[in-house]
Amino acid sequence: MAGEPQSDCLFCKIVSGEVPATIVRESETTVAFQDINPQAPTHVLVIPKAHHTDAAALAAEAPELAADVLREAGEVAAQEKADRSGYRIVFNTGAGAGQTVFHAHAHVLGGRGLNWPPG
Ligand code: C5P
Repeated sequence: MAGEPQSDCLFCKIVSGEVPATIVRESETTVAFQDINPQAPTHVLVIPKAHHTDAAALAAEAPELAADVLREAGEVAAQEKADRSGYRIVFNTGAGAGQTVFHAHAHVLGGRGLNWPPG
């Protein structure tokens, strides 16, 4: 059921502490941690603590929580000083777009030039 922890979800396990992560920021409803395979000098993932499969499901099922994730993404960018030169918030949505973990997450990428369009 939407919002409930899923026993087979890697990011639910990061929320519970069962899987370790380098947490850089936490709020009542979200966790932000370093991506283990960084694609830029700043590469942090912001996730809702509640389980929603992707950004669209999150926005439909829990719009205030979607806003929390976006706000925290901006706070992470400021904390990491990625806001000085611009940064990108990315939600890969669906396997065809590169989503590999089906627990909604915002990638916060910055600290280098970012090309457009993304590959
Ligand atoms: O958008 P996508 O679903 O591909 O993003 C998942 C991200 O989760 C990847 O960038 C991957 O490096 C990251 N990851 C992580 N810690 C893990 C497993 C995956 O940061 N334990």
